[in-house]
Amino acid sequence: MNPSRWLRFVWPAPASAVGLVLGGAGVATGASARCVDGVLEVSGGPPARVMRAMGIVAITLGHVVLGQSAAELDALRVHEHAHVRQYERWGLLFFPLYLAASLLAWCQGQSAYSHNHFERQACAAEAAARRRCARTSASDSLRSSSP
Ligand SMILES: [Zn+2]
Repeated sequence: MNPSRWLRFVWPAPASAVGLVLGGAGVATGASARCVDGVLEVSGGPPARVMRAMGIVAITLGHVVLGQSAAELDALRVHEHAHVRQYERWGLLFFPLYLAASLLAWCQGQSAYSHNHFERQACAAEAAARRRCARTSASDSLRSSSP
């Protein structure tokens, strides 16, 4: 593993540790876990019930994503993995920066969630992935219709 790849995991490790504690407790009590592109995804079980009660579909903590179900993690993968990249960039600073971005949006009379800078970045990653998917589908259908 080269040093930059190693740092990608060390820098956000405190946040990942919180995710591992919550995810590990979830797996010990019935949740499922899988590793996708270096990210541990945990779904179902008691953590999902708590998130459902709180209105949270998925949450990223470093290199751990907790979600209500595997299907929702599949649907939200690009968005949540964008948050993983944000953790890799900002490390422990991500928590206070995220809260500051929410506070800033709220002070401007906007949604503390959907107008948060980091959420907008993650949504932009989702939109870019959808455009790539649409282009691939269009070129696939052109290829399949050509002789
Ligand atoms: Zn998000």
